[in-house]
Amino acid sequence: MRRFNPPYNGHRFLLNKNTGEIHDLDRETAYCRINDINPGHIYTSDSYLSCLIYAKAEHCPNPNGCFYCQPEKDKG
Ligand SMILES: [Zn+2]
Repeated sequence: MRRFNPPYNGHRFLLNKNTGEIHDLDRETAYCRINDINPGHIYTSDSYLSCLIYAKAEHCPNPNGCFYCQPEKDKG
């Protein structure tokens, strides 16, 4: 479910900078626990690639897709 308030701003993809996990808010599951992510750890974008590039540039640990909402991009 997309959220239109900050820090989400209606974007589709959300990176948890603390874990490197990237979520697809259009396919979000309850297991993603988006509402529990510290707003200070959130980066959002309309593209998965942009979240990945940001995560690598910021040296986030293990950037990859969420096991629950992007299993095809989950690399463990
Ligand atoms: Zn997820």
